[in-house]
Amino acid sequence: MSFVIKCIDCGYAAQYYPTSTNCPRCNSQWREAVYEYDEIAKTFLTQLSSRPFNLWRYQELLPIRNPNLMLTLGEGGSPLIRAINLGMMLGCPNIYIKDERQGPTGSFKDRQAAVTIAALKEAGITEMVAASTGNVAISYSAYASRAGMKLWAFVTSLVPAMKMREIALYGSQVIKITGSYDQCKQVAQEFARQRGLYQDMGARTTTSIEAMKTIAFEIAEQLTAAQGPGETAPWRTPDWYVQAISGGMGPLGVHKGFRELQQMGFIDRIPAFAPIQADGCSPMVDSWKKGLETAEPVISPNTHIETLATGDPGRSYQLLRKIVDSNNGVFESVTDEEAFRAMHVLAKMEGISAEPAAATAFAGLFKLIRAGIIKSTDTVVVNCTGHTMPAEQYVLGDNWSRDVKFPSRDETPQEGLLAALTQVAPERFPRVAIVEDTAEARRLIRRILQSQGNFTIMEASNGREGLEMIQRELPDLIILDLMMPEMDGFAVLDTLRSKQETAAIPVIVATAKELTPSEKSRLGGQIQSLMQKGDFLNDEFLEEVKALIK
Ligand SMILES: *Cc1c(COP(=O)(O)O)cnc(C)c1O
Ligand SMILES: [Zn+2]
Repeated sequence: MSFVIKCIDCGYAAQYYPTSTNCPRCNSQWREAVYEYDEIAKTFLTQLSSRPFNLWRYQELLPIRNPNLMLTLGEGGSPLIRAINLGMMLGCPNIYIKDERQGPTGSFKDRQAAVTIAALKEAGITEMVAASTGNVAISYSAYASRAGMKLWAFVTSLVPAMKMREIALYGSQVIKITGSYDQCKQVAQEFARQRGLYQDMGARTTTSIEAMKTIAFEIAEQLTAAQGPGETAPWRTPDWYVQAISGGMGPLGVHKGFRELQQMGFIDRIPAFAPIQADGCSPMVDSWKKGLETAEPVISPNTHIETLATGDPGRSYQLLRKIVDSNNGVFESVTDEEAFRAMHVLAKMEGISAEPAAATAFAGLFKLIRAGIIKSTDTVVVNCTGHTMPAEQYVLGDNWSRDVKFPSRDETPQEGLLAALTQVAPERFPRVAIVEDTAEARRLIRRILQSQGNFTIMEASNGREGLEMIQRELPDLIILDLMMPEMDGFAVLDTLRSKQETAAIPVIVATAKELTPSEKSRLGGQIQSLMQKGDFLNDEFLEEVKALIK
């Protein structure tokens, strides 16, 4: 491995030492690792073929002299998961989730911690200071414990207690600062200065940026496996990279990764970047929308999503702005409520329970697809940055469980069991008929209904079958497709409305078809609601269902 560390301000190239943080010529702290790309490119692909799928397979492009196998916890190599249900709901079939929850401590900070702690260990450091919105401190703590290093973890009091306890469990000293994250960083910095301890420098830490770029390498490899090679290059890139940001280190590193792949000729283009922030702390989004060259800090962040609470992004904004603008990307922000809703959708539709910060990226994705900025034909990778934490009360609300007491002594065990069972599900559930010829769409509608309440669901795969089923079962609600073989939805409706028993059953038409004015008037008065497929996310669908069933 041979590389230099080059100052982005004056261009001076120096040898790399993890503890030397400033450019020897101009004192800038913004420097980046530069490798001998042409040399590495010659053998890179052949070498990869025999290596396990984890972060260290890219060791020629990492700033560690001898990767220390004693420290590894299996970082990197997270799966790229196709989001089939989300894709159907949004009408955007090529959405992929880079599942960084599967890192050793549950967030993409594990890459950063694995490489940074390895470098510090190599440099003989035994004690360090880091300010964190939670996940950095958790991850550094885990790796520091393996490396025999002590971590002073400065966190804001907003960090969930569960996360703080995990930091303490690893043996780190937790210091809880009542104040903003930016204030927390100031205290940490001053503490480190007075004690002469090494302090993590966030996005200015070479090893952290270098670690994050492995996300780009993996995405390109995994997308190639899923979709085949790029048009003119061996590997493939998505059209979009979407990530929720706080300080923006992730996209800075990921972009460097794509740049290096392009420089080595493995990919032919770099994706558009969409960094997402929470409305209550969106200095980068706001500054970008105002066209500012430097970011206006947010002094008092106002969001529940503490992981994303960097109010003053400093120079990271300028760097990220260049990246976003260079390739028709966008900055976007979402409300806490939108993030929580996205968290529910992701869990209920894709089986992925992420922390609110990670869900923020998905809320951003929904917004950008709705706005037509991300196109239905685009391939999108969303970084699911982290953590299946126990869902917090304010996310889940009340009434999420049903409490059952096993009745007492007077009854026989058999009677007791029956009584308990009536408490599990006392009601007769509303009965919903889905008449829809596409199996995937039936499955999606069934899933949306099942995940939000209790319904008895019946399905038919064409109009004729559907009509028979409805006449036999007399459901409480019908969800009807229009374009179907044998008998289309219009004909089903005409027959239903002409018969007394079925004339009053409410109908929601769910269709992918653009209706002509005459078709619309044909439906008029016959149905209760019309839903466009590919736009199921708006909660209207469920609200309609619930309203019509009462
Ligand atoms: C750190 C973190 C972020 C923000 O990442 P940056 O790229 O550093 O802005 C987002 N989500 C989760 C879960 C994180 O831990
Ligand atoms: Zn310099």
